[in-house]
Amino acid sequence: MLDERLNRVMEYITGDTLVDIGSDHAYLPIEAYHNDKIKFAVCGEVVEGPYQSTVNNIRQHELNDKIEARLGNGLKVLNNEDVDTITICGMGGPLIAQILKEGFGHVGNHPRLILQANTYTYPVRKAISELGYTITNEDVLKDGRHFYEIIVCDFYPKQKNYTEKELKFGPVNLENRTEAFIDKLNWELEHHKRILKGIDSTAEKNTEKIDELNLKISERHEVLNSES
Ligand code: SAM
Repeated sequence: MLDERLNRVMEYITGDTLVDIGSDHAYLPIEAYHNDKIKFAVCGEVVEGPYQSTVNNIRQHELNDKIEARLGNGLKVLNNEDVDTITICGMGGPLIAQILKEGFGHVGNHPRLILQANTYTYPVRKAISELGYTITNEDVLKDGRHFYEIIVCDFYPKQKNYTEKELKFGPVNLENRTEAFIDKLNWELEHHKRILKGIDSTAEKNTEKIDELNLKISERHEVLNSES
């Protein structure tokens, strides 16, 4: 059984072939196969321990001929193969962006990308827009005190250009204004206000940090107060 986060990711998987980067336990490809979402998967893992856990779980489910584990860094485990969906989940936004930038040349085609970031999604949206992708869906999930974001991207001949505001908050999030997205903005607003309160505003060395926090606060106020 997958948790809500990976279940939501699974719903967006399309086509027969999945590549799951940073697969760790390989829960997502195994469950996707059992749910007839895919026919074949590649699991990429860069760390030996999680890679062994990928290998063991695939073996335990007797899926060796359906799911292949590859040890390697990011998308570099691919050899210009055509695939239908790539998932990169459970990592920080900057790491997901780095994996896309460094390894996309190893992907043979332009599959759907499903990117689930635990933190800071701006670099993810920036990287996928530089690769010519369009954001087709977005989700924010709240799990206790944590917020997770899912960004779904597809490659269309005519790409949409994104504003800085869209790259920061997500074009679909801004359109849909889901309860979880609004909760996340309110949480961030309070978080930035708390940090600002604790900073010595008389010290010159803090000027840049204070300006940065004020900008983040005003950007969130603007989104929260706008209609859609
Ligand atoms: N994707 C699973 C999930 O969402 O539950 C596991 C997430 S786990 C927190 C992140 C995994 O990504 C770890 O197993 C880590 O070793 C792997 N990882 C980190 N950087 C990677 C990279 N450059 N290439 C492949 N795997 C990576």
